[in-house]
Amino acid sequence: MNLSKNFTIEELTKTSKTNLLAVNQEAATNSPAIIQNLTDLAVKILQPIRDFYGVPVTISSGYRCKALNVAVGGSTTSQHSYGEAADIQIDGHSVDEIFADIRSGKVVDLGNVGQVIIEKVGGAKWIHISLMTPRYSAIQKARYGTDDVVFLATKDGKNYERVV
Ligand SMILES: [Zn+2]
Repeated sequence: MNLSKNFTIEELTKTSKTNLLAVNQEAATNSPAIIQNLTDLAVKILQPIRDFYGVPVTISSGYRCKALNVAVGGSTTSQHSYGEAADIQIDGHSVDEIFADIRSGKVVDLGNVGQVIIEKVGGAKWIHISLMTPRYSAIQKARYGTDDVVFLATKDGKNYERVV
């Protein structure tokens, strides 16, 4: 099922943990709230990124049901668990370039974005980008004192440094 022109629910619910793939996809498709968040994520964030670069955006992780989030060692408050975040890579574009482009505001309307994280963990590099939702804006406000987009960097997936 397409969520936007170039993104499907299958891409946004896939996982390399093959034993949890069916469980994860079923959890998403059975939840109207998750489908809504994934649709907003695709339409408001991922599609504008796809359109800006004009090449496919690879999603390594989108929605993660509880079991999958535990299996990948995700944070218990992860936006992935709500269908609000995706980890992306784009062939031919470094994560530093993508991060800078997104920060500049020319790629995606930052009013729709919760967090952008440049992740360089154990040789792997990706961009985590999330949707600003009413649920999440309260968390962000409590954590960072702002419900505007926050830019972060991590080298271990556990400690996050604010990039200002
Ligand atoms: Zn992520």
